[in-house]
Amino acid sequence: MNILITNDDGIDSPGIAALAHALKRIGNVIVIAPDRQQSAVGHALTVSAPLRAVPFHRDGDMFGYAVNGTPADCVKLGVSTLLDYTPDIVVSGINHGSNTSVNVMYSGTVSAATEAMMIGIPSMAVSLTSFDLASDMSVAADYAALIAEKLLHMNVPKDTVLNVNIPTLSADEIKGIKITRLSNSYWNDSYDTRKDPMGRDYYWIVGTFIAPEADDIETDDGAVRNGYVSITPIHYDLTNRKYLQEMKDLFG
Ligand code: MN
Repeated sequence: MNILITNDDGIDSPGIAALAHALKRIGNVIVIAPDRQQSAVGHALTVSAPLRAVPFHRDGDMFGYAVNGTPADCVKLGVSTLLDYTPDIVVSGINHGSNTSVNVMYSGTVSAATEAMMIGIPSMAVSLTSFDLASDMSVAADYAALIAEKLLHMNVPKDTVLNVNIPTLSADEIKGIKITRLSNSYWNDSYDTRKDPMGRDYYWIVGTFIAPEADDIETDDGAVRNGYVSITPIHYDLTNRKYLQEMKDLFG
């Protein structure tokens, strides 16, 4: 199995190294990832600047290609141009920080997987609940490998991506896998207003994540907060089908 790995935290992040290490046990791995931090860029594509793909080494070994673009760029450029074969699956991650609920809209990690799905390649996004770069990623990487190995045989619909979130716990502490829906969590955002050395104001987003369904283990946030690995099948039919007929009637 040929596996394309990407992420949004950048090719030098610990999460993508742990993922590549684990997935080498189940297939041939190629890494094509952003050359810098690209979290929360969503599904952005680079259209008005040239892209370059530069070999990136890690611990003296060739690790992959660093692209000066977004996660979606990496998948699109990789599959269409850099690779001379079509990967069997695409795995994005392991992200530092959960990508539950509304975060799937902002997440570059999820958008890379979505881009693969749009090209027609089975894909999944993997995120660890901790933002701490020093977190042990090995348990999450083992789960990623376990799920990735099954991905080709799961009969996942062509318009669907698996969004995997993993709690920052030891293998013994994890209670198992829950298949979930997205929760209704949201960000209560504000901006910290500060002064630069010239006395001018600048602004820095300060987000508080509100999770009303934190105790509902049928949701992604509830599952990870209660010790489960959460897998949510997500898709991107953004049409509001419930309202469609009512609106058609209005415009007769
Ligand atoms: Mn990220």
